[in-house]
Amino acid sequence: MMARKKSPIWHPFTQHALQGEMTRIVHGRGAYLYTADDRRILDAISSWWVVTHGHCHPHIVDAIRNQADKLNQIIFAGYTHDPAEAVADQLLQLTPPGLEYVFFSDSGSTSVEVALKMALGYWNNVGEPRTTIVVMQHSYHGDTIGAMSVGSRGVFNAAYRPLLFDVTSVPFPAKDREQVTLDAIEVACRKRPAAFIVEPLISGAGGMLMYPAWVLAEMKRICEAWNVLFIADEVMTGWGRSGTLFACEQADVTPDIACYSKGLTGGSLPLAVTLCRAAIFDAHYSSDRTRTFFHSSSYTANPVACAAAKANLDLWQNPAARQRLASLAAKQEQAIVPFRADTRFENVRRLGTITALDLKARDAGYLAGIGPQLQAFFAKRNLLLRPLGNTIYVMPPYCAMTADLDEIYLGIREAADALT
Ligand SMILES: *Cc1c(COP(=O)(O)O)cnc(C)c1O
Repeated sequence: MMARKKSPIWHPFTQHALQGEMTRIVHGRGAYLYTADDRRILDAISSWWVVTHGHCHPHIVDAIRNQADKLNQIIFAGYTHDPAEAVADQLLQLTPPGLEYVFFSDSGSTSVEVALKMALGYWNNVGEPRTTIVVMQHSYHGDTIGAMSVGSRGVFNAAYRPLLFDVTSVPFPAKDREQVTLDAIEVACRKRPAAFIVEPLISGAGGMLMYPAWVLAEMKRICEAWNVLFIADEVMTGWGRSGTLFACEQADVTPDIACYSKGLTGGSLPLAVTLCRAAIFDAHYSSDRTRTFFHSSSYTANPVACAAAKANLDLWQNPAARQRLASLAAKQEQAIVPFRADTRFENVRRLGTITALDLKARDAGYLAGIGPQLQAFFAKRNLLLRPLGNTIYVMPPYCAMTADLDEIYLGIREAADALT
């Protein structure tokens, strides 16, 4: 074998001992990625759920270019700038009514940390300290210590478990067992926890597990009745994935705190926001400086990232964006219909633009051997798909065409032919 220069890069969620050569991407356009050796790869998972309108959308790229030339970083304490102000104003118009303040950070995980700190800060400042967080089974909220603590315990975080704080966990609302979840939330709420955090309508990294809007509405109703803060982690569901701009819309729910990231810049630059109701801001508003919200990161509200987010928000003002969403959702539904009758698959499901199906395999779960086999099979066909164990999901950018979906689902059918 020819000696190859070894890269010093340690990649995320990558077992380097089992990983073949990394695919080197040189540019992206729409739903496609292009490799250094001139292959065209179809990005069927939106580059880990972030790319919404397509790679290198010209309107977003222009906004980045223009802003980079004017102001590309500024301390955000004591200073502000037009791109951030515009993003905050437009966000409040688009998100559920009742959210009134916008806190910027730079990733989904940090937006969750901010949400948790807001909740604890609120209870501390109103003189009724509460610290317990109620979470849902199979949830994923990020990889920092706080975000892992409120996420499901498992192989992802076994090594760090002693460091994770205790939470109260309620079961996932499986079909026909929804009341069990709702009852468990009510029992948990009686003990006066600080907040309940949940991914609305779909648990993403937990296996693309879906539950109906009425359950989300009931969860919110129970939290409200017991005066427990309701945190919606829309880091993945936001920006159209669920079929509406935000998943909470489908249940007519306004959370007390909401986290958005991934598609916030259309998937072009890292940025996140945590929105909250006035009561949470007001509890920190005081001439007493100890009540300050003590949180920041160096690149908070980075102007270039905010300009990209502003461009994304502009795109959503155009009805064409929602039409594309509806059209992709319809195409996705059509594409999965045949799999409902294919006995090699089970739990064939769809929420908005996301479809998921489980390949019946002897071993299930994230570390199921079938996962990497499937991924390698798809890679050979120039399809970027990354199954969660035996769960295959399709989450393309909204510019994906019927022909693209045909290619993806043909790949999935042939993977089942080859591997089962
Ligand atoms: C991806 C994700 C996060 C973490 O976001 P990062 O930007 O990767 O830190 C948090 N919550 C949910 C629901 C996610 O899907």
